[in-house]
Amino acid sequence: MCRNKYYPWMLLMLQAIFITGCHQDKIKPETLAIHNPIYPDYNTPVSFGLFFLNSQFSLSKVDLQITYRTVNKTSSETDPEQIVLNHTWHKSDTINLPVIYSHAEGFPLNAVVTYTIKVTPEKESDAYTHRVTFATKPYYPAETAETEIPLHKKQPIPVYATADVNRACNLLFVAESDLPDLLRLPGNDYLPYFYMSVREFIKNGVLLDRSTRKQFDKFNFFINPVQGKYNYTTNGNFENPQNSSEILFCDAFAYIHQQEYDREVTKLETRQFTSRIFYKGSFMHELGHALFGLGDEYEHGKYFPNNTKPNNWNNENNAREYARRINVPAKNMVLVQDADIMANRCYILCPYEGCIMGLSGISIVEYGPCCREAVNYYMEEYSMP
Ligand SMILES: [Zn+2]
Ligand SMILES: [Zn+2]
Repeated sequence: MCRNKYYPWMLLMLQAIFITGCHQDKIKPETLAIHNPIYPDYNTPVSFGLFFLNSQFSLSKVDLQITYRTVNKTSSETDPEQIVLNHTWHKSDTINLPVIYSHAEGFPLNAVVTYTIKVTPEKESDAYTHRVTFATKPYYPAETAETEIPLHKKQPIPVYATADVNRACNLLFVAESDLPDLLRLPGNDYLPYFYMSVREFIKNGVLLDRSTRKQFDKFNFFINPVQGKYNYTTNGNFENPQNSSEILFCDAFAYIHQQEYDREVTKLETRQFTSRIFYKGSFMHELGHALFGLGDEYEHGKYFPNNTKPNNWNNENNAREYARRINVPAKNMVLVQDADIMANRCYILCPYEGCIMGLSGISIVEYGPCCREAVNYYMEEYSMP
């Protein structure tokens, strides 16, 4: 769900998708692939990791391929593809997990790197592929040697992209204007913490939760090169970053801050939300509001009545009827007292405090069975062309 827009790295993704024709709707990957650091400097080491999420899962083979192109600074063309590595780990070699390959010399300036990790389980027909594209610093494709791009023209930087932007859920991380105060660091020294936190949200948030992990090839994550602001003292007013015309293709906007707000905030109409840096529980909770239209499942929470895939109700019969329809046990149903609704009551089908929509903070639980229904439904919508 986004507007058509051209980016050099998109072309690479389209080629990749065309070549492999990979539609992996049925796959529930037992592995997670991610690089480190998430937005590397040029010529600095980058590691490529495959992590294991299920101890019962047995591998027979892992293939890693890494390629990159540099983005031509005077046009949106790219230079020829460079192959960095093609390597296979066989079961007979004993595959140690996580499988981590370190590329010590790193990549050039303005490189667009793509890595594919083909995972072959014992049953060969169950093989699937992680395919990820990211940029190296500074990634301003239209920049010329003479002129710095003005702030309002800067494009979001792909840090973990897996699909064409027109067929994916595009999520933008924006540094909230209070982040530079983090640990009282001067200048841009806060940025490494911001990038680390973004990696944490991707790896131990979106790619760890079983319902969002199932959509591992439908998420694109970007970092905005321009800050944004949330005015928490004036009751929920988000200020768009100065490059607001460049970020219209994104589906949701995570403003990462470091203040101890008394609560996190999502503005549903614009899909902007706040999350404290490294608080992956808060991040996944607010993401549930912004991307999947989910309501709160805790006392004094918010009831969202117009969701096509609801997770809370102010009427017990409607909740029971929905439970039957989606085949979720109504025995989980809990009456949450004093929710912020007219009837002063709210029924939920997810186990009480057993779903991230009922919790928040640093630690995390998965989306509960009722909320998974919404995740699946909306991810289908995002991935429609
Ligand atoms: Zn909430
Ligand atoms: Zn839930």
